[in-house]
Amino acid sequence: MTDAISDAAAWAAVLRRDRAFDGRFVTGVLTTGIYCRPSCAARHPARGNVRFFADGAGARAAGLRACKRCLPDNVGRDEAAVLAAIDEIRQAEDAPSLAALAQLTGYSPTHFQRVFKRAIGLSPAAYARALREERARDALSEGGDVTGAIYEAGYGSASRFYENTKGRLGMTASAWANGGAGVTIHWAVVDTSMGAMLVAATDKGVCRLSFNEDASELARRFPRADLVEGGAAFEKLLAEVVASVEAPGDFAHIPLDVKGTAFQEACWKALREIPAGETRTYAEIAAAAGNPRAVRAAGSANARNNVAVLIPCHRVIRTGGDLGGYAYGLDIKRELLEREAK
Ligand SMILES: [Zn+2]
Repeated sequence: MTDAISDAAAWAAVLRRDRAFDGRFVTGVLTTGIYCRPSCAARHPARGNVRFFADGAGARAAGLRACKRCLPDNVGRDEAAVLAAIDEIRQAEDAPSLAALAQLTGYSPTHFQRVFKRAIGLSPAAYARALREERARDALSEGGDVTGAIYEAGYGSASRFYENTKGRLGMTASAWANGGAGVTIHWAVVDTSMGAMLVAATDKGVCRLSFNEDASELARRFPRADLVEGGAAFEKLLAEVVASVEAPGDFAHIPLDVKGTAFQEACWKALREIPAGETRTYAEIAAAAGNPRAVRAAGSANARNNVAVLIPCHRVIRTGGDLGGYAYGLDIKRELLEREAK
């Protein structure tokens, strides 16, 4: 059909409704006289009735007309519209309305909503919300001041930030935004076979596990939290944590107190589901978290993991088997993987 794509590969893409092939060929259905983009949601035609064309012009020359459902000649226009909308959302003070985005791109609101969701996996409103949360968290974790972070992230006022983040953060939003004010964090640094390990927990669960760090790192992350070394209830939890790090295996029972964006949390959950002794790639984590295209975001969720080992980000390696990176050094990553492989 074309130089690049065999008919077999094209048909496989049609059966998968693979959006990545939209714009690279169209599917002509000889019995209905219609041609579609590969991802068309309509019922699949019988293979014997299908002929592939490099583009709409070729299909039209063969007497076919464009499907009214998937609008195969609009692929380029759809892409341009989605990119324009993303630009607009990223730059706007307030999240633009669906009507405004539709007007900007020349689509009807319902059609634009469908086009955007097909491309990004989220509605424009959900995308704007996710973007703000991401930016607010980034700004805060860089140690910036809260009010600045709120405005930088595009929230018009502090109260709207708290409304949006309520229930999404490990501590209540105000305590989190105030550097952990009102929260008690118990912590200890213990010697392990992999070096000094810092474990810290709120009364809800482990909020940080790291190597070669001391309490000054906790003070930096939670400057107003009440940091308490040791503690009876904490020592019990600490013993369980140390045991599961030294003899890697079952740690599903150890409570965690971590919160991220919805996608970060989905990635962390996917990490917890990798069996000990196995590894995954970032692409596999992105797919397991529900968005196969968000490979870079999966990498950043991995980097933002506060609880090493118990959220096993060390089980993610590069495609091709390269170990990739690790926040606490490749020696520790290699050691953890070797232990688990036994
Ligand atoms: Zn179609």
